[in-house]
Amino acid sequence: RRARLAAARHLPARTVDGHPVTLRVNAATPADVRAGLEAGADGVGLLRTELPFLDAARWPSRARHTIALGPVLAPLAGRTATVRTLDFADDKLPPFLAEDRGADRRGAGAAGGTGGPGRAADGGAGAGLAGGAGAGLAGADGGAGGSVEPLVGRRAPGGAVRRIGRGLPLMLARPDAFGEQFTALLGAAAGARVELRVMIPMVADVGELRACRALLDRAAAELDLPAPPLGIMVELPEAVRRIGELAAEAAFLSLGTNDLTCQLLGLDRRDPAAGPASTAHPAVLRAIAAVVAAARAHRRPVSVCGDAAAHPLVLPLLVGLGCDTLSVAPAALDEVRAAVRGLDHGACRKVATEALALRTAEEVRHLVHGRLPVPP
Ligand code: PEP
Ligand code: MG
Repeated sequence: RRARLAAARHLPARTVDGHPVTLRVNAATPADVRAGLEAGADGVGLLRTELPFLDAARWPSRARHTIALGPVLAPLAGRTATVRTLDFADDKLPPFLAEDRGADRRGAGAAGGTGGPGRAADGGAGAGLAGGAGAGLAGADGGAGGSVEPLVGRRAPGGAVRRIGRGLPLMLARPDAFGEQFTALLGAAAGARVELRVMIPMVADVGELRACRALLDRAAAELDLPAPPLGIMVELPEAVRRIGELAAEAAFLSLGTNDLTCQLLGLDRRDPAAGPASTAHPAVLRAIAAVVAAARAHRRPVSVCGDAAAHPLVLPLLVGLGCDTLSVAPAALDEVRAAVRGLDHGACRKVATEALALRTAEEVRHLVHGRLPVPP
C-alpha cells in the first residue's frame, strides 16, 4: 500500500469534485524538509525552530540560529517556508529555562515573597515579575555568558512562581534574544531564496502581534531587506475569541489544533485522550469555523498545521469547514493526499456544517462514519 501511495505523488491533492487542497510539510530538520518535498509537499507549512535548542545552555545567538536554519532552508529555494519563531513551552524546554523552573519550584518557599528567587545575577531586574498582563516576565541582561535565565515564571498571588505555560511572553520580555532569531531568519531566508513567512506561536492578542511586528521590522531594516509576511498560530481560546482583531493584522492564520484542542477541552497534551481525533469535538470545530470565517472576511490565507490535519476522521471535517491548506508530518503526506483524492468537497461541507450543531465528539464520529468514506 505504501508503494502504491508513493507512486501517486505526482497527482494533485484534489477532491473528486475538483476542489484543490494545498499540502505542505511540518518540519524541524533538513531530513524532514527533503522527505516532505520528495512526497510532493508544496513547501513548509510549519518549521519548528526550537528543536535544535532543546539542549542549549543559553539563549541561541544569531550565529547559532543561522547554523541551524541554513541546511533546513537550502532545499526550499523558490518555495514557501513558514518559519515559526521559538516556541519554548512546558513540553519543549531547554535546560537554561528548565533548570530555572526547578529552581522556581524549590525557591518559592525560600524566597518567601521577597521579590524573586534571589539567585539571579541580574541585579534585581528579574524581581519585576509581579502580576501584570504577561509583560513583566524576565530579566534583561541578555548577556551570552549567563547560562541560566533569571526568571521564567509569573509571580502568582502568594509568592509562588508559576511555570512557563506559553513562551511568547517570555520571548517578548527578551527582545534581544528574539531579535537575534529574526535577524538570523531574514538573512538565512534571503540567502536560500525562499518565500519566507514568519509565524508567531501562542498569540493571545494584537498587542503581542504588534510587538513581534516591531521586532521583525527592526531586523529587516537592520539588514536592509523587505519585511516578510507575519502570521500567527491560532492555538489559544483567547485568540479564537479575538480572531477578528487578529485576522485584521496578521498576514495569515494557521490553526495549531494540537494546542487549541487541548486548551478548549481542558486536556493535557500528554494525555492519551488528547490525540488528533479529539479535534473532532463540536466545540473545537466551532472554533475552527470561526477562524475560517474571520480569515475569509479579512482575505487572509488560513491553514491547519496541527496533527488533526492528518487524521482520517478529522481531515474531511477540516476540508469541509474551508481549510484548503494542510501542513502535515512528512510521513503523513502520501496518506493525506490519497484521503483528499477520495473525498467529495460538497459532501464534506454538508457534514461539517451539521457537525457544528452536534453536542459530543461521539455524535460527530458517528455522523462522519455514516456519511463519508473514512476508514473505521
Ligand atoms: C499545534 O499546537 O497544533 C502545533 C502545530 O504546534 P506544536 O505541536 O509544536 O505545539
Ligand atoms: Mg502548539
